[in-house]
Amino acid sequence: MKIGIDAGGTLIKVVTEMNNERTYKKWLTTEIDQVAEWLSQLDNVDISITGGKAQYLDSLIKHNVKRSIEFDATYKGIQLFLEENDIHLNTYIFSNVGTGTSIHYATTHNQERAGGTGAGGGMIQGLGYLLTQISDYDELVQTALNGNRDKIDLKVKHIYKDDKTPISGDLTAANFGHVLQHINEDFPNSDRLAAVMGIVGETVTTVSIHAARQFKTENVVFIGSSFINNELLKNIVVDYTVLRGLNPYFIENGEFSGALGSIYC
Ligand code: ATP
Ligand code: MG
Repeated sequence: MKIGIDAGGTLIKVVTEMNNERTYKKWLTTEIDQVAEWLSQLDNVDISITGGKAQYLDSLIKHNVKRSIEFDATYKGIQLFLEENDIHLNTYIFSNVGTGTSIHYATTHNQERAGGTGAGGGMIQGLGYLLTQISDYDELVQTALNGNRDKIDLKVKHIYKDDKTPISGDLTAANFGHVLQHINEDFPNSDRLAAVMGIVGETVTTVSIHAARQFKTENVVFIGSSFINNELLKNIVVDYTVLRGLNPYFIENGEFSGALGSIYC
């Protein structure tokens, strides 16, 4: 059995492959000792590890493990997933929206890092908690679904009012910039969290679009567990990418790219 592990800042992604069958499993990074315990009970396994907690997980287990560079493993995994899904891209940007967001330019041969932003899944959880006291991930993303950003985010058309706007009036001019104009009104948790998804989704997309322009590609592949059960974030990213004339791609199990790729690096 082959086991590929991406031990990240928030989640540990595990892919196993045996007799052409693949399984996917996630653990919280706070459960890293349990992952080590599980691995320690296994014999006859080839273990590959990548990610920021790879060194630590390696130190907890007895096996000889193969270690690989996170960015290369992620690229390898994305290439495999794209191929398996019959998606053929000569060049693309991939944005890994994990705890933080890392952005890369990829060709059919390799990847190079193109940038990143601290807006990502960690910001969704942390800012989301500060604004609502909700720490449960599923409750957070479910609550955001029913939210309305109108009273919180300022759009270009709000500034220009009846005047003609130089860019689409529906673009966000200032995330959270509408709040003080509604100071005597209520801001339900759903609205607050929808605005959190807004700032994260728009920041991630903006940085990705700039990278796509810099590297002259029209394709952006979005991966990372931040999109799990988070349809709102996905929609924001898709709409904004399309609005800017680029092609967004999401791949099933994309958040396991690093774990899968580590097996094949
Ligand atoms: P990094 O790559 O930055 O080290 P990571 O690999 O741990 O971090 P991902 O697993 O891609 O990052 O994404 C983590 C994010 O996924 C969290 O910040 C959160 O927004 C989201 N998430 C999805 N499912 C869960 C869950 N069950 N528990 C906590 N966070 C979750
Ligand atoms: Mg990661």
